[in-house]
Amino acid sequence: MIQFLNLLFRNRLAGLGAGMLVLILLIALITPVLPLPDPNITATADRFMSPFSEGHLLGTDHLGRDLLSRLLSGTRLSLAVGVAAALIATVIGSSIGIVAGFLGGRTDNIIMRLVDMLMAFPYILLALAIVAALGPGLNNALIAVAAVNVPFFARNIRGVTVGLANKEFVDAARLNGMSNGQIIFSEILPNVLPVIVIAMSTTIGWMILETAGLSFLGLGSQPPQADLGSMLGEARAALITFPHTSVVPGIMIFLIVMSINLLGDGVRDAIDPRLKSGALSRPLPATIVERKEVPPTPDKDLLSLQELRTEFHVGERVYKAVGGVSLKVNKGECLGIIGESGSGKSVTALSVMGLVASPPGKIVGGTVSFQGKDLVGASYNELRSLRGDRVAYIFQDPLSTLHPLYTVGDQLIEAMQAHRSVPQKDAQARAVELLEAVRIPNAAQRVKNYPHEMSGGMRQRVSIAMALANEPDVIIADEPTTALDVTVQAQILSLLNDLRRERDLAIVFITHDFGVVAQLCDRVAVMYAGQIVEEGPTAAILDDPQHPYTKRLMACVPELGGGKRELHAIAGLPPAVDQLPQGCAFAARCEFAQEVCRQGGIMLEPKGERAVRCLFPVNADQIEVTL
Ligand code: ADP
Ligand code: MG
Repeated sequence: MIQFLNLLFRNRLAGLGAGMLVLILLIALITPVLPLPDPNITATADRFMSPFSEGHLLGTDHLGRDLLSRLLSGTRLSLAVGVAAALIATVIGSSIGIVAGFLGGRTDNIIMRLVDMLMAFPYILLALAIVAALGPGLNNALIAVAAVNVPFFARNIRGVTVGLANKEFVDAARLNGMSNGQIIFSEILPNVLPVIVIAMSTTIGWMILETAGLSFLGLGSQPPQADLGSMLGEARAALITFPHTSVVPGIMIFLIVMSINLLGDGVRDAIDPRLKSGALSRPLPATIVERKEVPPTPDKDLLSLQELRTEFHVGERVYKAVGGVSLKVNKGECLGIIGESGSGKSVTALSVMGLVASPPGKIVGGTVSFQGKDLVGASYNELRSLRGDRVAYIFQDPLSTLHPLYTVGDQLIEAMQAHRSVPQKDAQARAVELLEAVRIPNAAQRVKNYPHEMSGGMRQRVSIAMALANEPDVIIADEPTTALDVTVQAQILSLLNDLRRERDLAIVFITHDFGVVAQLCDRVAVMYAGQIVEEGPTAAILDDPQHPYTKRLMACVPELGGGKRELHAIAGLPPAVDQLPQGCAFAARCEFAQEVCRQGGIMLEPKGERAVRCLFPVNADQIEVTL
């Protein structure tokens, strides 16, 4: 709740709307105890007194009634009727929508056709017809306004409910033996509630206007009772001669509706969970760069990161997700990045092409040089021309990276045409070739498939084909096999390996699995809490891990045919990257940690081909002793 309010008031306009609305509500609440004249007492001698007259702060109307008093009691009435109409419409409309959407089939059909019949009439005409049938009066106006708004809620909420009714969690609730009523209340309602609140907060102002409209026409509140609409209606005759009689209720209507709408918009934004973490802002197309130190000069490797530092600034907190990472990869080479979940692998990979969501992400130091050019300072257009063209990505979950409504062929073609104009025919032929290249059988037929028509392994092959579409120099694969089962994983790995040899690709392969690294990578970098703790040729590291973390990480991996062996989980958790400890980040979980480990920062010490960030590296024979 506190978080919701914080988020709501970060939006200044919503704050303004809320403030104004609270003020109006307060005034409306205390109106009966204010020392005001009776709003309905006429005094023909005092007709049309102008504002600021003695005893009548806002003047009087055509019957000499005090305008301030009428305005406040009118506001009370209009608010009460508008809010009541909104509540009634919301409750009835949403219930109809939920029942229709949830039950589906014939019930849905009949209910929705009835709703459609109501919707077929123009809005105001329908309201007028209802009041005409029931007779004028405020209660009937309320019923009319509520009735014409019911279809709006019913349609909206039904649409959302239909989408939810077939979700797995509803099936799970059914398997649990819950009744329809229980499912509606415990599974469906919490999910549609935000939509209901949003629909209501954005229409309540409109309903107040409609009630005022009916009163204006003389169909709502009856004289002498004042509401804002009837005040306007009565003042109409004197609009030119005594404008203040219409301006006063007019301004009040304007203020009420505006403040409700501003607040409603704010509520809609704040309630959307997707906007919560992003602090109500859309990420920029390229990560913000704020380098304080002078960046090291880029070098000639195909892709090299030097002292790259990426942080997330969320409120007061600074998450140092990547804290000075240096890596490089050349043609035909495969570099593995391995580490526990949360160690900063994905953020490192996304930083390369400026894809870290910003805000809150920022690159605060280091360089990413691609063919000798620094990409960290590069313009969005430069980055865009490289993304997917020279440097391509493969992500973990192909179902969420492929567009569900286009065939895989169209998506492959789009990937090509984003970078160069390829005639449609050639592009189609090339799409088939690409699918063949990733060993999809019957590729000519398969290009016409939608993503949901393929299995997980097939889809991941399509993602790889997309990454290959523009013959990139580097492919960055972020846990591409984690969502797949082992046999498919093995196929995908050997496919990537073949492609690397055929096309001289450089691959940066991110994983948390040493088995995968062993199969594919020439070199491997072990990450922990945003830093590389050990790096070197894969074989050397696998034979002789020197950082205690690497060693423990390897001890977690079961070995086929390796005989019985106890698997050692690493006790404790990695430190949160917004409060990293002073010295070695692993010290708290390390069995060899000494006092010095917890003091200053520890350097990544190069030793020939390898490098390790540890004051007391483990040596090979110690492994037998300690495990
Ligand atoms: P992984 O190694 O599992 O790929 P990530 O690179 O995704 O880890 O995340 C590294 C760290 O960055 C995590 O500890 C996480 O707390 C932090 N992080 C990632 N995205 C955000 C964000 N939007 N806001 C704050 N912190 C983030
Ligand atoms: Mg990740």
